[in-house]
Amino acid sequence: MTLSVQPHRDAVGLPDGLMFVDGKWRPGQDGASWQHRHPATGEEVGSFAVAGAQDVDDAVRAARRAFDEGPWPRLRAGQRIRVLHACAAALREHADELRALQALDNGVPLSFASVYATSVGVAADVFEHHAGWVDKIGGQTLPPFQGGDHLAMTFREPVGVVAAILPWNAPFLLFAQKVAPALAAGCTVIVKPSEHATFTVLRMVALLLEAGVPEGALQVVTGPGEPTGQALIVHPGVDKVSFTGSRAVGRRVIEASAGTMKRVSLELGGKSPALVFPDADVNLAGMTAMGMVTMGLSGQACVAHTRALVHRDVYDQFLAAAQLLAGMITYGDPFDPAVLASALISEKQRDRVMGYIETGEREGARLVAGGTRPDGDLAAGNFVAPTIFADVRNDMTIAREEIFGPVLAVLPFDDEDEAVRIANDTEYGLGAGVYTTDVRRAFRLARRLRAGTVGINGFQVEPHLPFGGFQQSGLGREGGQSAFESYTELKSVLMPLTEELM
Ligand code: NAD
Repeated sequence: MTLSVQPHRDAVGLPDGLMFVDGKWRPGQDGASWQHRHPATGEEVGSFAVAGAQDVDDAVRAARRAFDEGPWPRLRAGQRIRVLHACAAALREHADELRALQALDNGVPLSFASVYATSVGVAADVFEHHAGWVDKIGGQTLPPFQGGDHLAMTFREPVGVVAAILPWNAPFLLFAQKVAPALAAGCTVIVKPSEHATFTVLRMVALLLEAGVPEGALQVVTGPGEPTGQALIVHPGVDKVSFTGSRAVGRRVIEASAGTMKRVSLELGGKSPALVFPDADVNLAGMTAMGMVTMGLSGQACVAHTRALVHRDVYDQFLAAAQLLAGMITYGDPFDPAVLASALISEKQRDRVMGYIETGEREGARLVAGGTRPDGDLAAGNFVAPTIFADVRNDMTIAREEIFGPVLAVLPFDDEDEAVRIANDTEYGLGAGVYTTDVRRAFRLARRLRAGTVGINGFQVEPHLPFGGFQQSGLGREGGQSAFESYTELKSVLMPLTEELM
């Protein structure tokens, strides 16, 4: 039987062809559209508008008006909190519909859309978390430093018009990680979803508007990086670009921000190491590392631990556990509850991953699982089998570059210092894992590893924890108080209380 997502598409009713700009759901001004093909089947699932420079300009002007004159930045804290809680409730209420839309967009299986970090629930939690900051973040009152008696105070003001540019792989979490703190801080927001996860984001925006976010405070422009994303990052009316995506586009965001000194937050790629010591639960470590590069997103996850650094004493045991899990991964129809992993997002990405697998073999790594593409019913999709390379050296391409596919590179080490040296020998620094039962070693390494988040015997993304990268994995942090503050400017206010200072 040929795989098809068409019946699900008909059941969901995709919001085709419109985006929300300047208070209206409308098509793009020049009538351009983008046809979305499903990654698991190659079917055309639906089309959406491509926003050109004029549409983006309309959105930015409306966001500017809403910021300068509209109600949102001026709402009382209690009112803004109520709206953000209503947003969370609306997302939870429509969780099934959103999960189905995501499966039609990026092909992430329904089974995985219930796992916390990739669930609709996490997006709702992020809105509730940031609702909690609205009445708790203010400024300071400071004593006079010199001169006569005076009041010295600081205030946190919203940064202004925010462009939130999203990748396609985790639209629930990544939409919320930007939109919730930006709205909580009183900014107005223009969202640009990835061209590979547009329908999910259109629906989330519609739900938030219905929940009470006023028009102008939240808009959505759809389309690919060129022309839509590019028009946003160069627009002088945008005060801050909050970007999640590849390092290459992240660099363009920095370049484009230079002209007007836009504020920039970047969440980029990774090549995260997992360090496995002989005293660890080695089977758990092998299963977890392999699970991170296969289950759900098939390794298309920024923080996946794609480099497993394993002590020689437990190297074979680790490989056996990873191979066992590789053999259990099921892929296919994302609506089938037994399916655990997705196809790769595009033919281009599939070919890139197969290219890395060839390079790994050419450079002398030992292929011990996968390396192939399925045939039969699945041949039309962008599937790649769970793949493991053993005996990888850290100077090999597959140990240095972000592959963004189901490929685990396993490297041996002999002692702790060598493990840390290999782990930190990377241009990235998003995540890391330490597997050990020695508490002192766990915390010693957590401090020595150059990464934004270190998991000890497991890994989780939490709404209240800062998340972001060292080095070329990004700039700034999402999650928690630091995310809220990144959508504010700090202002100092001074007032003499006597004649002396005047
Ligand atoms: P991408 O860089 O190709 O696209 C990201 C977004 O940028 C999309 O909306 C795209 O349309 C837009 N874009 C592309 N060119 C643009 C341009 N010239 N100007 C403005 N916008 C442009 O990335 P992707 O394939 O969607 O996502 C995969 C990447 O994202 C990986 O590198 C992954 O590691 C990273 N990622 C990072 C995190 C994190 O939190 N650090 C989370 C998820 C994904």
